[in-house]
Amino acid sequence: MFNRRKFIKASALSAGLLAVNKNSIAEVLPKGKSGNINKPIVISTWDFGVAANADAWKVLSKNGRSLDAVEQGVWVPEADENNQSVGYGGLPDRDGKVTLDACIMDELGNCGAVLALEHIKHPISVARKVMEKTPHVMLAGDGALQFALEQGFKKENLLTAKSEKDWKEWLKTAKYEPVINIENKLYDKAAPQKLPGNQYNHDTIGMIAMDAQGNLSGACTTSGMAYKLHGRIGDSPIIGAGLYIDNEIGGATSTGVGEEVVRNVGSFLVVELMRQGYTPEDACKEAVMRIIKKKPETAKKIQVGFLAMNKKGEYGAYAIQQGFSYAVCDSQKQDLVIKGKSYY
Ligand code: ASP
Repeated sequence: MFNRRKFIKASALSAGLLAVNKNSIAEVLPKGKSGNINKPIVISTWDFGVAANADAWKVLSKNGRSLDAVEQGVWVPEADENNQSVGYGGLPDRDGKVTLDACIMDELGNCGAVLALEHIKHPISVARKVMEKTPHVMLAGDGALQFALEQGFKKENLLTAKSEKDWKEWLKTAKYEPVINIENKLYDKAAPQKLPGNQYNHDTIGMIAMDAQGNLSGACTTSGMAYKLHGRIGDSPIIGAGLYIDNEIGGATSTGVGEEVVRNVGSFLVVELMRQGYTPEDACKEAVMRIIKKKPETAKKIQVGFLAMNKKGEYGAYAIQQGFSYAVCDSQKQDLVIKGKSYY
């Protein structure tokens, strides 16, 4: 049974230089079996990560593999028609097409991804098939759909009546104005907000899990930026940008405006910083600072958040803007939502 404890850490404002913990790699890595490793554990982006973690936990708590856990976990938002930024029910591109991006990575460094995949409810599972059944890492567009159908996935209409209505509303002005952290407004059960259809949202589920064996896997899946140009790909299906796992060090994932994450190869950067001894939070902060330093004016108007876990099962996050949340599930806490720290 879940021990339901909920903690909300206030989002802390912090600017300025990093106080970086420059431990040696040996200090970062767990020290054999006696090391204090918090496992199994799963973390994922945004408040909707709570429900996704709960399903991942069903696998992890039965001694299952982290790869199976992350796949099963992200199915939850992928199948949730009320979640308009992931999978079925996702907001379409400006041509009215729901195009999905997803990637998955295991403890051996194997990875698979689908880009701009249409008509398939669970792109993460197609990404896993790309990883396991082909010599390739990425399949895009029609080729990805053809592969999915060959693998037995069902062709479905992913555009719900609500998302179609919102898109038609958006078409009236066709203005491209990001609303930072809009997901939290939609998912705030205490104060749900009705958003006009001309506002659009983004927000991805990125999940990292460590199983009882201490092996790490990750998954990242999204419908991407709503009303994007047809064919636009964000960071989410790009290994190293939206997700990266190194079973010796840890894993990282991202959410927010994917273009800035791709430009900085964000998740790979976070993992490499942890390799140098940064804590997960400090590594995420440094990756955020790169984006801010390169484009300070752009950064003021956008959200990007990173979430990371190291091999000890320690986790942390950092975002450009306030409001980024993530969910944690381990043997002590199953529905922990933490407000990530932010620069602004
Ligand atoms: N990173 C996603 C993208 O750029 C969107 C998001 O997470 O908000 O497609």
